[in-house]
Amino acid sequence: EGVDAGAQLAAVPADAAGAATGLGGSVFAGVEGGVGTLPGAVADAVRAAGGEILLNAPVTALRRTGATGWQVVSGDRVLTADAVVLATPAGPAAALLAEHAPAAACELGAIEYASMALVTLAFRRSEMPDLTGSGFLVPPVDGHTIKASTFSSRKWRWVADAAPDLFVLRTSVGRHGEEEQIHREDADLVAASLKDLAAATGLGARPVATTVTRWPGGLPQYPIGHLARVARIREAVAGLPGLRIAGAAYDGVGVPACVASAHRAADEIIATSETAAPGAGHSS
Ligand SMILES: Cc1cc2nc3c(=O)[nH]c(=O)nc-3n(C[C@H](O)[C@H](O)[C@H](O)COP(=O)(O)OP(=O)(O)OC[C@H]3O[C@@H](n4cnc5c(N)ncnc54)[C@H](O)[C@@H]3O)c2cc1C
Repeated sequence: EGVDAGAQLAAVPADAAGAATGLGGSVFAGVEGGVGTLPGAVADAVRAAGGEILLNAPVTALRRTGATGWQVVSGDRVLTADAVVLATPAGPAAALLAEHAPAAACELGAIEYASMALVTLAFRRSEMPDLTGSGFLVPPVDGHTIKASTFSSRKWRWVADAAPDLFVLRTSVGRHGEEEQIHREDADLVAASLKDLAAATGLGARPVATTVTRWPGGLPQYPIGHLARVARIREAVAGLPGLRIAGAAYDGVGVPACVASAHRAADEIIATSETAAPGAGHSS
């Protein structure tokens, strides 16, 4: 409550995307400096509000204490909590809930993830063809390695402003079930990206800088039936007082959906704790 990380960040609309839709506004919004700055801003806001953040402290067990409380075990450390929002990916959530909500754990264990890599390429702007739009998606039937490309210097003004002589773009590699892709050498992923970019856009320039970022197990996959599965998970977890779930495994993989699921978890915990306020839970 009251933590407003957004106040410290400059939210920016995308440059090229609005024009691409013809709708006037942009269909994308970002954060100046990159969305990667968001977790740091959230952490600063949490600390400023008196919260403590423990890093490199994976939770290894959850234990019930009494009727409503929890113990959160991380190595030698045991934290006592009135409430817990479990915001890990599905696998760790399944392990932590196995003892307390086996049906939920079983459903969580069935959620599959895709691993992907981002290849960031910087070119001399003077050597670029005239690219339009904010990027493109590649359907699997095309048989190419990359699954998408984002023209970062066209999509985000702050990227163009930060390096006016350069043109930065990204490709992404690694569809669901293509785990092997992210284990390819950096140079190999760069070469495959350049080949596919040339086929899609005619780009023939050599990059002046490249970087590859891997996201193992980064994206949960939602098959047909996912909504029903999430409903079953929530129903099973609802039986655990003071514990709720949140994150990309449930209502959408995008950051706004993750934040919404965290709000929902917090609201439910507050509502149930108010119902169980002093006196309400006592019987004679
Ligand atoms: C390459 C890539 C690009 C993306 N681009 C966009 C985009 O442009 N826009 C957008 O909206 N979304 C995007 N997404 C999706 C979005 O970023 C993610 O879905 C979202 O950040 C997931 O947030 P989360 O908090 O649910 O999970 P995570 O960010 O995965 O956080 C889960 C945390 O749980 C921790 N954890 C795991 N096990 C334990 C344990 N036992 N104890 C304690 N902690 C544990 C992990 O270390 C991790 O920090 C992208 C995702 C990827 C991979």
